[in-house]
Amino acid sequence: MNDQQLDQSRLGGFAYDPAPESASLARLADQYGLFIDGAFTDPAAHQQFATLNPATAQPLASVAHAGPADVERAVVAARRAFDGGWSTMPGSERAKYLYRIARIIQERARELAVVETLDNGKPIRETRDIDVPLAAAYFFYYAGWADKLDYAGFGPAPQPLGVAGQIIPWNFPLLMAAWKLAPALAAGNTCVLKPAETTPLSALVLADILVQAELPPGVVNILTGDGATGAALVEHPGVDKIAFTGSTEVGRLIQQRLGERGTHLTLELGGKGANIVFEDAPIDEMIEGVIDGIFFNQGHVCCAGSRLLVQESIADEVVRRLLRRVEQLRVGDPLDKNTDVGAINSAAQLARIEELTRAGEAEGATRHASSCALPAEGYWFAPTVFTDVAQSHRIAREEIFGPVLSVLSFRTPEEAVAKANNTNYGLACGVWSEKGSRTLWVAQRLRAGVIWANTYNRFDPTSPFGGVRESGFGREGGRHGLEAYLDV
Ligand code: ADP
Repeated sequence: MNDQQLDQSRLGGFAYDPAPESASLARLADQYGLFIDGAFTDPAAHQQFATLNPATAQPLASVAHAGPADVERAVVAARRAFDGGWSTMPGSERAKYLYRIARIIQERARELAVVETLDNGKPIRETRDIDVPLAAAYFFYYAGWADKLDYAGFGPAPQPLGVAGQIIPWNFPLLMAAWKLAPALAAGNTCVLKPAETTPLSALVLADILVQAELPPGVVNILTGDGATGAALVEHPGVDKIAFTGSTEVGRLIQQRLGERGTHLTLELGGKGANIVFEDAPIDEMIEGVIDGIFFNQGHVCCAGSRLLVQESIADEVVRRLLRRVEQLRVGDPLDKNTDVGAINSAAQLARIEELTRAGEAEGATRHASSCALPAEGYWFAPTVFTDVAQSHRIAREEIFGPVLSVLSFRTPEEAVAKANNTNYGLACGVWSEKGSRTLWVAQRLRAGVIWANTYNRFDPTSPFGGVRESGFGREGGRHGLEAYLDV
């Protein structure tokens, strides 16, 4: 049987019925305030903005826009909570709050998954199986550290930094909030969290969970707003530490601002991850891993495997199988449990993906887009693979942050390493080979913070994550993740 006959015999005649999760589970309010000092309040300037459902481009709710006066109130509340007991409370007491938050996230998992899917556009299968359970897992994991800081390898009685300003992006809104809040709180800091402007809702549900967990007022404050809100937080002299995840551009700007002041800083920025495939790779697992590496979360992943480096001897076979698999991806309603690829998060992000893919064609690469039908409303981009890509092409150098894979080939392991390292970024890479010694040889030479072997996009709270060079510095997750919030 050829590929097409195989596909028909497997899939022919069977269509998927729609299997949508109910949007009403989100229980969204029409309007949200700022979460300061344990309660929701109006922003001082009474400004609101709409957050949209990217799958329909329709507004979901009206959200408060925090200005400098609100940042001031939140930082003062966080300082009061820090001095008022949170930082000196026995770690075993802080742990109880973190465990409670983790358990309530689990109890409200379905609501959180629907909220996240509505606001972000990512498939419900991913929010249900990855974002929400992992967010709970980070709180559980760091709860376990809260009473063991003396044994974490940072000397006896390591001290918290104080008030942490935490600025997060829109690609994993709840999970990034958990990555930031859980270690900071375990270490005894208090927090002012700024979610991204296109995805504020899950952080606001989290605020409600913090109230339910009876977290003392001011320990966590959540300010919705845009880049100006983030900038006001960075500028505030009462903030002792900034943790930022987002674009390399903004990260660089923040580093310049804080360099002058000496505020503690960790940055988790962009990436242009390479998946390196050797001719002896386990082919079925590898195809699934490469597909997941770039199409998971619509490719809105800083560590996405957006460059495929495939050994020349198997390149034709791999491309043929990849294109076939891309055709099978189900693109559409993010609330449908059978959807593999959801909506692009915003009109601005869609425009960037379109611009870079046009540049790919103009520079001579060949575009292979899935023939899937795209919904008429909202922001959508068909899963796409580029072949005939040269290292100099923009699609091989710049972060596209979308469902677009650039395929390049190599002949020797040395060439694979040289091509994988030919980037200013250094966040993640994958190596696919049956031969462990070759995998280790390659991994030792790759300049990236995270290397996966025969897998990709594997996240675990016990494992540190972070980059080198233009992908940032500092680690989140694991024992290393505590260091970012301790005075060591
Ligand atoms: P992306 O390109 O992925 O949207 P950004 O770096 O623009 O990434 O945004 C990541 C987060 O940083 C968001 O919460 C955004 O509001 C915030 N942000 C944007 N500009 C600034 C800035 N100048 N200072 C601080 N935070 C900012």
